[in-house]
Amino acid sequence: MKARYSVVVPMYNEEEVIQHTYERLKKVMDECGDSYELVFVNDGSRDRTAEIIRGISSRDANVKLVDFSRNFGHQVAITAGMDYAEGQAVVVIDADLQDPPEVILQMIAKWKEGYEVVYAKRLKRHGETLFKKVTAKLFYRLLSSMTSVEIPTDTGDFRLIDRKVCDVLRGLKEKNRYVRGLVSWVGFRQTMVEYVREERFAGETKYPLKKMVRFALDGITSFSHKPLKIASYVGFFLAFSSFLYLFFILFQKLFTTWAVPGWTSIVGVNLLFNGIVLMLLGVIGEYIGRIYDESKDRPLYIVRETRGYEDGEYINKREGIRNER
Ligand code: UDP
Ligand code: MG
Repeated sequence: MKARYSVVVPMYNEEEVIQHTYERLKKVMDECGDSYELVFVNDGSRDRTAEIIRGISSRDANVKLVDFSRNFGHQVAITAGMDYAEGQAVVVIDADLQDPPEVILQMIAKWKEGYEVVYAKRLKRHGETLFKKVTAKLFYRLLSSMTSVEIPTDTGDFRLIDRKVCDVLRGLKEKNRYVRGLVSWVGFRQTMVEYVREERFAGETKYPLKKMVRFALDGITSFSHKPLKIASYVGFFLAFSSFLYLFFILFQKLFTTWAVPGWTSIVGVNLLFNGIVLMLLGVIGEYIGRIYDESKDRPLYIVRETRGYEDGEYINKREGIRNER
């Protein structure tokens, strides 16, 4: 029988928190009184994450495991979780208990009122570095100033979506996935609950600066053409001013006797313009790289094994090979 609620938990090297996360989630979900499943997606962890989940899943039939062949990234892990989730409502939550599982009950209440997307807005963030808080804040402001899709600020991927929304999201084929943006983009009746983001229960963040930058670039380039526009404005402005400058130097050459002292300005202008041109090429390169990714049409992720599903029935789910039940 299909569970009514699915809770998707992406995990990357989370051996220290799993047991605890499982117990907290189980407690909350038992309280809600309906059938549920916990879909743990192991995103190519190098520690004992998969092993521990396998153990839990052999004791608790509500627990399922989707084990990736390598690390594909947080957003892809969430996507896989949505692919495998069977519930009428699907909740995505981080493994580290920074998002309190108890909030799920509030989300379910809103869902029962008829909302199709319930996202959780962070009122405060506890136990995160100042750097993370500031960059996150700036990023969400920057993103919202650049896109026409209204992506709520200060919300992560902690949210509940209805089956309908989940199916629509699964149909979106893009590879550079910025899930929270996609959820906003699809529309439907959306509402929010507020919560305070807690400290990580154990272990450390799995989002080093490199992944944060990648994530930010995905968010901006998937939802905005502004950087390209800015690139062309800057280019246009530069071309125009160099044209003016050309007149100036021609005038200088023909009608005045101020000779060689042009060296500084030539080098200066050269450096400045070359720098800007390279920067703009970089912006264009970001987009072209993403077009390339999309055109390759490789699967988004590769599953090594699943637990809790009959006979690997769900393997290659995204490719549409499985049988519909
Ligand atoms: N995560 C993942 N793959 C990755 C990085 C992170 O599945 O490549 C998971 C991680 O296990 C956690 C969630 O994504 O459940 C959020 O990561 P984390 O808590 O480290 O990020 P932060 O809260 O510091 O932004
Ligand atoms: Mg965290």
